[in-house]
Amino acid sequence: MQPTPKLYFRDSSLLEFSATVIDARSSERGDCVVLDQTAFYPTGGGQPNDIGTLGEASVVDVFEDEAGTIYHVVEGAGSLNTGQTVTGIIDRVRRLDHMQQHSGQHILSQAFVQACGAETRSFHLGARTSTIDIELQSPTSDLLRAAEDIANAVVFEDRPMRVHLVNEEEAARLPLRKESAVRGDIRVIEVEDFDWSPCGGTHAARTGQIGMIAIRSHERAKKMTRVEFVCGGRALADYRLANNTAVAVARLFSAERDSTPELVAREIQEAKSNKKRIRDLLELAMVAEASEMLAGSAESGDFKIVHAVFEGRAVEEVRVLAAKIVQREPSIALLATKNAEAARLVFARSSSLAQNMGQLLAEACEMLGGRGGGKPDLAQGGGPNVQRVEEAIRDAAEKTKAS
Ligand SMILES: [Zn+2]
Repeated sequence: MQPTPKLYFRDSSLLEFSATVIDARSSERGDCVVLDQTAFYPTGGGQPNDIGTLGEASVVDVFEDEAGTIYHVVEGAGSLNTGQTVTGIIDRVRRLDHMQQHSGQHILSQAFVQACGAETRSFHLGARTSTIDIELQSPTSDLLRAAEDIANAVVFEDRPMRVHLVNEEEAARLPLRKESAVRGDIRVIEVEDFDWSPCGGTHAARTGQIGMIAIRSHERAKKMTRVEFVCGGRALADYRLANNTAVAVARLFSAERDSTPELVAREIQEAKSNKKRIRDLLELAMVAEASEMLAGSAESGDFKIVHAVFEGRAVEEVRVLAAKIVQREPSIALLATKNAEAARLVFARSSSLAQNMGQLLAEACEMLGGRGGGKPDLAQGGGPNVQRVEEAIRDAAEKTKAS
């Protein structure tokens, strides 16, 4: 197949064209149509394809093979036959969006060269944002801001963007930002008095059409810096999103939009110190509760047996309480906490005693229809038979006395 002449090469604003079908066939990507010329951009150079219509059929994908033949993947291809003349219409919104992002990339790439000599190594035009990978080891906010300022100044000046179709010799005389990947005839995109780049993509006619160029974020990527950016309509959509988020956060504080970072930081700090204070108070409360429980418990020889069933208390808290009890004086703590679904048991003993809590707890858990175990001095478990938990604790207390 021959290379397909690309109408967008001369004029990216051409959105409607006439062409003759020279081939129509099925492929693994779907029904494909080849035309004698096309204004549809095929995926390549970091830029996704155009979509649109060919006669009655929808163009859902466009790709180019190594020979330069462009294939239009269409739905409803039954209406297209070889030899037929068709009208192609490019989806305007998607084309404009891609033109804004791609043209913005040329300008941002040159802006980074001017701000810090950082060359662009790759470009990706994504569905929501785009990225360039630039030769920059240590990015700073000031540097990124400087490049962004240079780029937007070029937009605000509404400079012409021109297409030059030149041969290699002519190209060699132009101040190209990067070497051409193609031989022979080379297409060069000029941003007046700013940037010259060999490129096959679709571009704006003037920089004003690109709209705002905004850097969203940056990250290190393979010894380079990956810069995420949005242009034009995407920059407006992203600003709205960011503004809505900031306003929503500010409303929670009944504050001005831009004062929230300090307010949020203060809240986080306060929550941290409150958490520590709660931990300290809980510790004090546990010590007091342990003393009180020990005071009200029966002696069995030279140790005390403390038992209790709590409602809906966190098992972690019950475990701390058990530890406090057995640390204070020679004792065995047989504690449980229950809710509608399950009962949890924590058995503990002082280190001076010899009873096996693991064994005792395993037997109690059996009554609850569950399982559990642990070490001789501390064991934990539970089961679903909530109604038997008091009985299980009483039983364990009896066994302890007998031992
Ligand atoms: Zn380009």
